[in-house]
Amino acid sequence: MAPPTTTPKRAKQRRGEGQWALGYREPLNPNERSKKDDNPLNVRDRIENIYAHGGFDSIDPADLRGRFRWYGLYTQRKPGIDGGRTATLEPEELDDEYFMLRIRIDGGAVTTEQLNVIGEISQTYARDTADITDRQNIQYHWIRVEDMPVIWQKLEAAGMTTMEACGDSPRVILGSPVAGISEDEIIDGTPAIEAIKNTYVGDKAFSNLPRKFKTAISGLQDVAHEIHDVAFVGVMHPEHGPGFDVWVGGGLSTNPMIGKRLGAWVPLDEVPSVWEAVISVFRDYGYRRLRHRARIKFLVADWGPEKFREIMEEKYLGRKMIDGPAPEVPERPVDHVGVHRQKDGKFYVGAAPIAGRVSGSVLMEVAKAAERAGSNRVRFTPLQKLVVLDVPEAEVPALSAELAKLGLQTNPSPWRRGVMACTGIEFCKLAIVETKARAAELVSVLEERLADIQAGVEHPVTVHINGCPNSCARIQTADIGLKGQIVTDADGNQVEGFQVHLGGGLGLDAGFGRKLRGHKVTATELSGYVERIVRNYVKGRSEGERFPQ
Ligand code: SF4
Repeated sequence: MAPPTTTPKRAKQRRGEGQWALGYREPLNPNERSKKDDNPLNVRDRIENIYAHGGFDSIDPADLRGRFRWYGLYTQRKPGIDGGRTATLEPEELDDEYFMLRIRIDGGAVTTEQLNVIGEISQTYARDTADITDRQNIQYHWIRVEDMPVIWQKLEAAGMTTMEACGDSPRVILGSPVAGISEDEIIDGTPAIEAIKNTYVGDKAFSNLPRKFKTAISGLQDVAHEIHDVAFVGVMHPEHGPGFDVWVGGGLSTNPMIGKRLGAWVPLDEVPSVWEAVISVFRDYGYRRLRHRARIKFLVADWGPEKFREIMEEKYLGRKMIDGPAPEVPERPVDHVGVHRQKDGKFYVGAAPIAGRVSGSVLMEVAKAAERAGSNRVRFTPLQKLVVLDVPEAEVPALSAELAKLGLQTNPSPWRRGVMACTGIEFCKLAIVETKARAAELVSVLEERLADIQAGVEHPVTVHINGCPNSCARIQTADIGLKGQIVTDADGNQVEGFQVHLGGGLGLDAGFGRKLRGHKVTATELSGYVERIVRNYVKGRSEGERFPQ
């Protein structure tokens, strides 16, 4: 495993980086201009009162490609445009008149009643689409702007929202899918997630950030905390007891960086104020000149964690935080798939769709099956899986069988369990290649061809598939990371394919997969390629060895 050496390079600060705190209040690029011209949260009013009546053509382009995101809305890709043309077309040529819509589901937590509402909206307004994202959200497609008022009405009546699901804002907070019921967690972070969501989401003081801001809070290490803008990781303090260790500055895409520990221990009730201090530093000192340098990781890389903590404490918190120990690191993050005992004696049942692809109808069936098993709580996971909580032992076999009939296996093959994929060319305007269907095909081929070695693979081999150089499916943290691009096949044709990254992972020895020079594979050769890598790994490894680079 390579050490996480890919710290963003220090830029020479010859001129300002557009930080508000240093007096740069005038926008330095079009995105900053748009946010200053009108707070993005104001767009909801225009959607409900103007665009929903006037239709797609009535939408102001600055709202369409900018402020709509603050309510989870992106235009989706016009069907039929191949990946080779993605970079050559203007945004309006790629825009379909339909939208992708994200519901933010903090902590991935829904009731079966909410799941039913999600499913009904999907069936009525989204052509039955519903993907579980790796940020515990639900993502619809084929949404029309005309339907947004009624969709919000239904979601909000059921206690859900799309507010700040996207945009330069505090996005959905990742939380342990088994918070409060796990036998292993150090502390339940749910009250902190709820407090932050209820206090800060929709607050205009935090709705114009330099870039997106991703938070993870968990008493277990199951939310990829290493790659979040801010993360609170459960830890036991020798004197003060259970609380959280604070990490800042993690992130993927360009210049990936593992988050840095601030060395501070925070009790549960202080998590919201510490979170507010971190996001305030980002808002005021974050770099707003260049968008590709605007994530908090660049500030953390330039300052270092010591200075970051000092500014936070002195300028925002008004107090010193307590020093604290590092959390113990598990060998690998847990995915909660399978049947597990809760601390109250009931069970939770985790099931694996392929790469998060379900549908509104399937989610409604899951709700029914959960209720028949005596449960009304379901969780989505950061690995695109779902978990039914609170199942009495006697109901587990029947529930597992019902889920399996829905394509949600509770004892999946290691390949099905380990695969993730982003949205890809089916709907994403930035995509170069297909991803979800390719993930399904890959799983099916590997299940057939690798049946002979399946029993010997005790941990899932993680395969993450991205449709472009962005890292929505976290390719750098997979055993096999596949970054979509156009490649040249054996006959010299330009075809869909992938740059391969090998050996990434979180947990013990967290680090990013190595991009192997020249390791590119065409989409049609993908299954055979992955099969060969896995066979070689299984044949050559010693006991307990992680995936090689
Ligand atoms: Fe779209 Fe690229 Fe993100 Fe995939 S990785 S969802 S193709 S932006």
